[in-house]
Amino acid sequence: MVTSTGARAYFEGMVRPLPLLNLSDDAVPVGATSVLPCVLDLDLPALQGVVAELGEPVYRAKQLFRALHGRLVGSWDEITDLPARLRTALSGRHRLQSGDLVIQAVSRDGTRKRLVSLAEGQEIETVAIPATSPEGAKRLSVCVSTQAGCAMACTFCATGRMGLARNLTVGEVVDQVYGFGREDPAARPTHVVFMGMGEPLANYAATVGAVRRLADPDGMALSQRRITVSTSGLVPQIERLADEGLEITLAISLHAPTDELRDSLMPINRRFPLGVLIPAACAYAEKTGRRVSYEYVLLHGVNGQLEHADRLAGLLPRRLSHVNLIPYNATDAEYQPTPPHQARAFRDRLTDLGLSATIRASRGRDIAAACGQLKAENRRASRPTA
Ligand code: SAH
Ligand code: SF4
Repeated sequence: MVTSTGARAYFEGMVRPLPLLNLSDDAVPVGATSVLPCVLDLDLPALQGVVAELGEPVYRAKQLFRALHGRLVGSWDEITDLPARLRTALSGRHRLQSGDLVIQAVSRDGTRKRLVSLAEGQEIETVAIPATSPEGAKRLSVCVSTQAGCAMACTFCATGRMGLARNLTVGEVVDQVYGFGREDPAARPTHVVFMGMGEPLANYAATVGAVRRLADPDGMALSQRRITVSTSGLVPQIERLADEGLEITLAISLHAPTDELRDSLMPINRRFPLGVLIPAACAYAEKTGRRVSYEYVLLHGVNGQLEHADRLAGLLPRRLSHVNLIPYNATDAEYQPTPPHQARAFRDRLTDLGLSATIRASRGRDIAAACGQLKAENRRASRPTA
């Protein structure tokens, strides 16, 4: 089994591993949850269909939608604006949450991580990171998974070593955000990053569906500008995304400035090399007017020398682009993080060459550590034995 030392250290840093076995008061045993489809997977027309089948007026569907996606109710009983008979009928057909909370851990810095077991037994992780904006506003960023596992096999990524189990549904993606929203209604998630387990654009429909659902005015009404979707570089889907009329931020996981190096880190580069990926990213930026974020994990002795910075600067446009340098979270792959002084030198070279570039802060590193970097082995090790 692959282990992730960085991830393990992260979990060991948690002061409060909580064995919370489902917060929902309509909790049913895991075996039973798999029988009923999750109501969060139904869009408004589908809810209208269900409500009509149950002989209720169609406006009830909107009330239900608002309760599920706006108020983030955790149980049927909380939907007090629906008649009890309808709630009972609905609860006999659908479960209300997409999975069961297996464990939640809270770090010293307030970062929270949830491990959820889905209906078919796959486990996914979600992380919420509290922060304060430069203007002093409280933020809560949630990093969601879009797949259980990932098929892209990037050599430095623990999730890539798992292979793909399955795509998540829209309900399973948004419920990761709702899980944190239900916990503390006074401090709801303000930002969502699609940087957890999986390749979002390989699960395109659910990713775009989840973005729209999170931004729905009758739902959480999150601004699309506060949503980031990260991709390893699926060019046809990037082109399609550019035409969706969304205002999200697109992040491209670049990690190398040459095809030769990128081929060795990210097998997807053989299908969509830099010569097609960068033009697609630029076209996305121009079409949407949104700055593209180029993610670059610094791997010691591999991609973090100044010559790489020079090549990177030769590759990227100055307009509508930003380079996000990510400290590597060690997995048991053969890579080491680049020392901080080298990371700063790399950033300074990029900025000297006219690129906008920042090093992701250590809390961002927590995000990377938690987003898909953990193996089941680590999770088991971190659970209380009692
Ligand atoms: N599959 C998508 C989104 C999930 S990965 C993608 O690859 O973009 C989110 C980010 O974490 C990506 O930039 C990915 O390259 C990075 N990442 C993966 N493993 C990492 C590690 N061990 N340390 C730091 N970042 C890592
Ligand atoms: Fe998949 Fe992203 Fe990990 Fe690559 S970095 S294996 S695309 S999750």
